[in-house]
Amino acid sequence: MDFPNYFADAESSFDDASLILFGVPFEKTSSFRHGADKAPYEVRQASWNFERYDLRTGINFEEILVHDYGDLNVQNLTSKEVFETTKTFTSKLLVKKKIPIAIGGDHSITPGIIAAFPKDIAVISLDAHMDFRQKYKNDIYNHACVIRRVTDHIPLQNIAVLGIRSVEKEEYEQAQKQGLFFRDAFTINKIGIGKSIQQTKTHLKGKQIYLTLDIDVVDPAYAPGTSTPEPFGLTPLDVLEIIEAFSPQLIGCDVVEVCPPYDHGQTAVLAAKLVQTFISGIWRNREA
Ligand code: MN
Ligand code: MN
Repeated sequence: MDFPNYFADAESSFDDASLILFGVPFEKTSSFRHGADKAPYEVRQASWNFERYDLRTGINFEEILVHDYGDLNVQNLTSKEVFETTKTFTSKLLVKKKIPIAIGGDHSITPGIIAAFPKDIAVISLDAHMDFRQKYKNDIYNHACVIRRVTDHIPLQNIAVLGIRSVEKEEYEQAQKQGLFFRDAFTINKIGIGKSIQQTKTHLKGKQIYLTLDIDVVDPAYAPGTSTPEPFGLTPLDVLEIIEAFSPQLIGCDVVEVCPPYDHGQTAVLAAKLVQTFISGIWRNREA
């Protein structure tokens, strides 16, 4: 059975809403498994599973002013055109003081969105991968180059990458040489999620934050439906704690790399719940 093709309870009009959800069903740069373009549909379908009332926060989702814009028309574009399209769309939202929340798509949809923001914001990337290659498969917009593209716009010291456990030697050395702030999944496991969050907070100094969530940061036991699964990942509750800790600073976010053909829907359910967590977290901390 199909549920309506919009995110559950995202029923405000565009004009009334302060948060705008949109899908970016683009998947051309994935290096291993394909199907992330199916994610916006599956994540929206999964969202109808949840209760409107959230016992954790006391929020009733009906009261949140959020609009589901639908999908951007990106399926036949090149990765460079997707960069321009997401940048233009996000700029229009920011002019109207809306908070963008995107559902990818592979990770290559993120740098265009971030390029629409002022240069002095901070970026948190939750990812199993560093995505710090200059170029991959002859494409600087490939999903393996996301953080590099973000540094074309945002100063490197304003970026924090959490949960990595898979790198190419050269990108790892480059990241260390340039002083990129990161905490790998093994370090997070060792020092604890609370301390990892504290260190990240100290590093980002209270700046406004765009959070990009590559679902493969979560262990594949919980999130198997992803393009490049990598063991020894974070738990969903670790990710919840991170989102909670930074919610007061969030000015936009995305969930990417959900690849529905590779599981039984559990990754789409988790992604939908994390989108809900973004929405309630931002809403709860909005300025009155
Ligand atoms: Mn990524
Ligand atoms: Mn990744």
